[in-house]
Amino acid sequence: MKIGILGGGLSGLTLGFHLKKDFEILEKNSECGGLCRSLTEEGFTFDYGGSHVIFTKDKDVFNLYRKLLHGNWVKRKRNSKILFKGRYIKYPFENGLYQLPKQDNYECISSFIKNLIEVSKGKVKKPTNFQEWMYYTFGKGITEKYLIPYNRKIWNYPPGKLSLELLASGIPMPPAEDIIKSSLGIKTEGYHQNLIFYYPIQGGINALVKPMEEKLRDKITYNFEVKSVAREGGKFTVSDGKEERKYDKLVSCMPIPDLIDSMDGVPKDVKEAKNNLKYNSLITVMVGIDEPRINNISWMYIPAEEDGDFNRLSFPFNFSRYVAPEGKSSVLVEITCLPNDPLLKQSDDKILKQVVKDLERLGFARNSKISYRNVRRSEYAYVIYDLDYNKNSSKVFKFLKKRRIESCGRFAEFKYMNMAACIRSAMNKAKEINST
Ligand SMILES: Cc1cc2nc3c(=O)[nH]c(=O)nc-3n(C[C@H](O)[C@H](O)[C@H](O)COP(=O)(O)OP(=O)(O)OC[C@H]3O[C@@H](n4cnc5c(N)ncnc54)[C@H](O)[C@@H]3O)c2cc1C
Repeated sequence: MKIGILGGGLSGLTLGFHLKKDFEILEKNSECGGLCRSLTEEGFTFDYGGSHVIFTKDKDVFNLYRKLLHGNWVKRKRNSKILFKGRYIKYPFENGLYQLPKQDNYECISSFIKNLIEVSKGKVKKPTNFQEWMYYTFGKGITEKYLIPYNRKIWNYPPGKLSLELLASGIPMPPAEDIIKSSLGIKTEGYHQNLIFYYPIQGGINALVKPMEEKLRDKITYNFEVKSVAREGGKFTVSDGKEERKYDKLVSCMPIPDLIDSMDGVPKDVKEAKNNLKYNSLITVMVGIDEPRINNISWMYIPAEEDGDFNRLSFPFNFSRYVAPEGKSSVLVEITCLPNDPLLKQSDDKILKQVVKDLERLGFARNSKISYRNVRRSEYAYVIYDLDYNKNSSKVFKFLKKRRIESCGRFAEFKYMNMAACIRSAMNKAKEINST
């Protein structure tokens, strides 16, 4: 039996790494890794699919991380901030209320407590969408000052039209006492998921996928962009328009919209459902600065529209001292946008000019000290859980099931999956296949 794996991102590689049967990975690019790719130039290493760090509670996944990195990692404690009215507020926002201007702190805590009382009396309607959930959980102040602006910026979608499915992705839900303590200035931490994280000492996040890619190299066909997938007589035929491959079993680890586009005889309602699956793309801007340790921040969240197009900055030199040259610092800027946003088509120069202007205005970098700059785009970055998500995704997956194509990975399963979730899914898939 020969298995075809479509896509050599983290999911496709992990699946291959655990398979005990014959397989081939078809990867459209000249290197594997997908969102987990890193770029090293002039001594700077950037994760250009966005800032990636390692954390998980899944022991098997953690053991795999340990095995793959083989000592090439450091443990770090998160030091994240939110830029609010020019101040650096501790992340998550509800744990940093004491750092807000007094009036904002008062408005947040008073509406939080009033809301809590109303909720406990059953006077607040149970939430039916993400925006209603924010009001229901945090009250007006925190919701309107931070949650709505930040979520609007990262999702590029009205929070009132986002589904509660999003909560499954691990949105922080702190106890009420913590929020009250935070308003008074008593230290609380909040959102423990990535409070402690690991990061490769050298090579950026790609150091995680490289060992698998190296081991599987003769099973990977590079520069093979899957353009057609057909099934006949129990066999799958996959082609990039030049070459053909035949498999007994097919696991797609590539984005589902592109997979559906490569298939014949897709019913109209399935095509429509596929067209209605929503996602965000990502622009990353990489900036190298000729100054030592410009700060000690891991991530800086930027909710306000007027502060720039970016929703998040990270500072890779704080993750590992080997990802920036000695005495230099680095900033990785993330801008999410819908796939049809004209910003994606703007020239690198124009994007860079605007980003650098905003970074300078906000005090994160001085133009005269910037020695390295680069821009990358990723078409598929974040699944958007809109209110029709379940309806559309289940229609598409029902169709794939009929065609006997299996799916594994973030955009293949069309879910908000982090690396650990992708690895878990690939390990489970391998176990299932190995046992047949
Ligand atoms: C901004 C951002 C930050 C993140 N930060 C973290 C983090 O800190 N920690 C964490 O655990 N997770 C993080 N993640 C999630 C993580 O990136 C994903 O879970 C993981 O990389 C998904 O891997 P994948 O293989 O499923 O998908 P992808 O990485 O999308 O890989 C898909 C692969 O398929 C290939 N492909 C696509 N089309 C075709 C085709 N037609 N033919 C052949 N090949 C094709 C692509 O080239 C790619 O190699 C982050 C994600 C983003 C967007």
